[in-house]
Amino acid sequence: MTDTYGWETNTPDEADARFYLVGGGIAAMAAAAFMIRDGDVIGREIMTEVLGHLQFDSDSQAILKNAICIPCMMPFITSQFMPREEGDRPQVVPAGYKNLAFIGQYCELPNDVVFTVEYSIRTAQWAVSSLLGLKRKPPKVYKGATDPRVLFKAFKALHDMDA
Ligand SMILES: Cc1cc2nc3c(=O)[nH]c(=O)nc-3n(C[C@H](O)[C@H](O)[C@H](O)COP(=O)(O)OP(=O)(O)OC[C@H]3O[C@@H](n4cnc5c(N)ncnc54)[C@H](O)[C@@H]3O)c2cc1C
Repeated sequence: MTDTYGWETNTPDEADARFYLVGGGIAAMAAAAFMIRDGDVIGREIMTEVLGHLQFDSDSQAILKNAICIPCMMPFITSQFMPREEGDRPQVVPAGYKNLAFIGQYCELPNDVVFTVEYSIRTAQWAVSSLLGLKRKPPKVYKGATDPRVLFKAFKALHDMDA
């Protein structure tokens, strides 16, 4: 489950300011931890689950009373993040093929991350480079999580050292 929070207006001081939460989950079929019913659920049950995970214990009833929750199924975007195994999606250029390639989000690229423009571009670069037998290969996938500069910046941000 991922959540993004914010104020609907420019500042929380505005009289009609409303706090919003946009959340998404990819394990819709998993058993719930806090709500009573599994399967098809309504907004109140989703909010109960969210508030439970966020440990709002004593405030949760007041929040539930004042919250509006609009459930929304988004199968296309969710499909990109579902667990998958090698073989579920075709390689960009499947073994043995000389004049066919798959490009876009639904083919397999090692180490890359879907739901990005880069992924689609890199699949096209692989397709052209492989089918034409070019020496030039697509640029390597940038691994920010192992870059000391990124880690140092993250450390500073997490310890409020930028303020
Ligand atoms: C809300 C949202 C936010 C995003 N934010 C980011 C972001 O911040 N950074 C990032 O890197 N990526 C982001 N993405 C993902 C990124 O937009 C996509 O991964 C990328 O655009 C996919 O590019 P594509 O060319 O493979 O496919 P698409 O851009 O989907 O292009 C496919 C094209 O094929 C056309 N088409 C489909 N069927 C047919 C047909 N039968 N005949 C002819 N044409 C057809 C479609 O109309 C479309 O124009 C976001 C996506 C969404 C939805």
